[in-house]
Amino acid sequence: MKKIIGQLKPYVPEEPAESVKARLGVDRLVRLSANENPYGTSPKVREAVLDYVVNNDANLYPDGNASALRAKLANYWTVEENQLVIGVGLDEVISMVNKTFINTGDSIVISVPAFSEYGLNGLVEGAVIREVPCIEATGQYDFGAMRKAVDDTTRIVWICNPNNPTGTYESVEDIHKFIGTLPDNVLVIIDEAYIDFVTSVAVPTARVLLDEFPNVCIMRTFSKAYGLANYRVGYMMSSAELANYIQTIRLPYNLNTLSQVAAEAAFEDQEFLRATVRQNAVERDLWEQTLDEVKATYYKSGANFIFMSVPNVEALADEWLAKGYQVRRGQRENWLRVTLPPADDGVIMRSVLKDYMARQ
Ligand SMILES: *Cc1c(COP(=O)(O)O)cnc(C)c1O
Repeated sequence: MKKIIGQLKPYVPEEPAESVKARLGVDRLVRLSANENPYGTSPKVREAVLDYVVNNDANLYPDGNASALRAKLANYWTVEENQLVIGVGLDEVISMVNKTFINTGDSIVISVPAFSEYGLNGLVEGAVIREVPCIEATGQYDFGAMRKAVDDTTRIVWICNPNNPTGTYESVEDIHKFIGTLPDNVLVIIDEAYIDFVTSVAVPTARVLLDEFPNVCIMRTFSKAYGLANYRVGYMMSSAELANYIQTIRLPYNLNTLSQVAAEAAFEDQEFLRATVRQNAVERDLWEQTLDEVKATYYKSGANFIFMSVPNVEALADEWLAKGYQVRRGQRENWLRVTLPPADDGVIMRSVLKDYMARQ
């Protein structure tokens, strides 16, 4: 066993809903702890998957290049097909990036609190993780401090935008300025898992930076706004040179055909995506109003979740859970990350919150 493995803790996946329900004795459990899409999946996905299953055996290997999906993505983003690396969820792409680019002793700079996979996969490859605290008052990235954490040993700087778990959004202008200060042998990976949910600016994505900086990579996933978490599809856009390095270590048939077919159908149904984003934005406003009213602490969110704190937050999480609402704990002492539920559930949860705060 590698020495580092003994020091790592595995990602604790969500407990299956049936098991939580049995444990709590509730009939209905709404999982708001993994930022999945609470509005479901495009009905076009079910059609496409059924059509594939009805008409095909499973004896042949899938298309190892996910050619049809690749062509659609390349066309949409106006990148060459060889600038795309498609993975079994973005998680696999994050792992492949670390395998490809990290030598033992390299450093990786991340803002904390952060998505746990960046650090975990880096550590496995022997990296030193440099954690830079976000700005406490706003949850925004402290780009000045991040710049100071970069030195000759630094291979990767992660920018998660909007950031998980803080929910905060960084403007393309600020990211542009930051990248301008970095040596060009440092990879800047911009994880846009939640970017579709940003409604405060017309063009929130940093896609434009790909053309300007050869060291910029942009990541996307179908798991969140597209409602496809179960099928595991994510991808990265970068220069063809960087993408080709990663392709050398990618497993030949990583995406099965169901995942490919599902992602194609989801990508084509942009109306489903827009409806999700619209409803999420309405709910996000309602939540922020209530959080202001009850004087909770929270960060302004551009995502489909809100990171928040109230006195003795675990007790609030327990009250929500008793009503069948499971939120995410443990990412920062006395803070919760709440995936925003659809309207009806939002009304109930906010009334629990108001009631709870009246007793504090
Ligand atoms: C959910 C998430 C991912 C992983 O997505 P998958 O495609 O489901 O593996 C990556 N980055 C961030 C920030 C996430 O929140």
